[in-house]
Amino acid sequence: MREVRFRDPAGTIRTGEWLDDSEGERERSDGSDIGDAGGRVRFGDRIYSTGEIDVLPPCEPGKIVCIGRNYADHAAERDSEIPDRPLLFLKGPNAVASHESTIELPAGKERIEHEAELGVVIGEQCRNVSEDDAMTVVAGFTCGNDLSNRDDQRVEQNWVRGKAFDNAAPLGPVLAPPEEVPADAAIRLWVNGELRQDGSQSDLIFSIPELIAEITTHLTLEAGDVILTGTPEGVGPLVDGDEIGIAIEGVGTLRHSVRVP
Ligand code: MG
Repeated sequence: MREVRFRDPAGTIRTGEWLDDSEGERERSDGSDIGDAGGRVRFGDRIYSTGEIDVLPPCEPGKIVCIGRNYADHAAERDSEIPDRPLLFLKGPNAVASHESTIELPAGKERIEHEAELGVVIGEQCRNVSEDDAMTVVAGFTCGNDLSNRDDQRVEQNWVRGKAFDNAAPLGPVLAPPEEVPADAAIRLWVNGELRQDGSQSDLIFSIPELIAEITTHLTLEAGDVILTGTPEGVGPLVDGDEIGIAIEGVGTLRHSVRVP
């Protein structure tokens, strides 16, 4: 079952079941109009349309551990070497944004880009997890956008301005069981209905178990923390009013728009 956190019409936060079939959505949509058809959420014997509720991010991460250059084709388009160990950087809880949100991008920047990514949501506090045990600490998968401010990223070492600004990590809408996500799951991103990214989870340089083992060698992951696993090729700039759809096979479709102040 794909779970969704939401605020019901009375204002109470619930966890329900996402009823739309992600495969069907993906087949019939260009990613720009998914959601207008209306996802549905079951909670007990109630079924809500997404118009009746606020879909919340699938978790409340204390930190988001992001992986850079984890697809060879993306490293090539950035004229960067493939790293010999996972390249890690952090976003904080301020970066989280929800499905269907309108994100105000940092002002005065020439190039802020989208990066469609598979998000791994951690289910329990863990440290020094082996690759063999890695999937036991995973609560589920979600869709993410690693929004990237290239103006500042290219001139700073630690990418705080470049990557960790407010709402730089839209996440959601669901938490999907990993066993329902194919190993070669398609990862696609559309801007205003135009397909910009079309990759596959099978092209990850470092696998999800390898990432969890490496990250937890150095730091403790907590329940609700997220790993953004890297983006395939096709990243590109966003402008005021753009509508973004990110679909991951077996997971669902995250939609949000951007505004430039
Ligand atoms: Mg990224």
